[in-house]
Amino acid sequence: MSGADARAGFLHRRAIVEAIVLSPSLMLSPAASALQTAPRADRYAAPRAALIAELREQARNDSGTGTRIDPAVLAILARVPRHDYVPASQRDNAYENRPLGIGYGQTISQPYIVALMTTLVAPREGQSILEIGTGSGYQAAVLAEARAKVYTVEIVEPLAKQAAQRLRRYPSVQARTGDGYYGWREHAPFDAIVVTAAASSIPPPLVQQLKAGGRMVIPVGSSFFTQTLLLVTKDERGRVRTRQVLPVRFVPLTGGP
Ligand code: SAH
Repeated sequence: MSGADARAGFLHRRAIVEAIVLSPSLMLSPAASALQTAPRADRYAAPRAALIAELREQARNDSGTGTRIDPAVLAILARVPRHDYVPASQRDNAYENRPLGIGYGQTISQPYIVALMTTLVAPREGQSILEIGTGSGYQAAVLAEARAKVYTVEIVEPLAKQAAQRLRRYPSVQARTGDGYYGWREHAPFDAIVVTAAASSIPPPLVQQLKAGGRMVIPVGSSFFTQTLLLVTKDERGRVRTRQVLPVRFVPLTGGP
């Protein structure tokens, strides 16, 4: 749920619309600021809009990936407060188009990469999507905003707990601590799988847990150099194909056998 939706929960929706039309300053009144979300969201509205404009431009110029960023995905990025998913010390950098440190040697991915990976898996309402590497929770929030059911696994326990806390606003997200190399068998098969840490090869359990007709995006390669973002598709007969999308750099996928 976005900040604006949270406010609508407190007040009648029509009253909100009128308040905005008749008196923009009302949103900054002491009464409104008691709700917390409005002033914080406002503070970053301009840099967030600038980031979306930059991504839109990047999407237009981008031919190397063979994938055009879906405008619906950019609309989602325009309403998810990335500054809520980074440490306080990084908040003012939250709308730069680059990865940021989130502690424990891990990162929140670059917004362009989040937009690209989300476009590649093409989430649809009601689909089940598995994410490996919850990290900050930002990618999971983006998938939830696409109205998918999201199952997300993080191996670093403090990050998993913090992200689960942030993601409580999305009832459609289930987050757990664990080794995502093995997927999440209880909720398989998945319409899509998003792996946000670099694997040396595609983990077989994840291929098994992908539905026929499903799509997986995963960075594969050495953890010391750049990797290749792969789109893995499983057709209706269970045949698996991979397409190389883009050279990328992710933190390594740990765990596994
Ligand atoms: N999707 C995240 C990006 C996080 S970076 C975001 O939007 O912020 C990748 C994350 O993968 C790190 O937090 C790392 O701890 C986690 N990770 C690495 N190996 C893992 C594994 N085997 N299972 C689950 N998570 C793993």
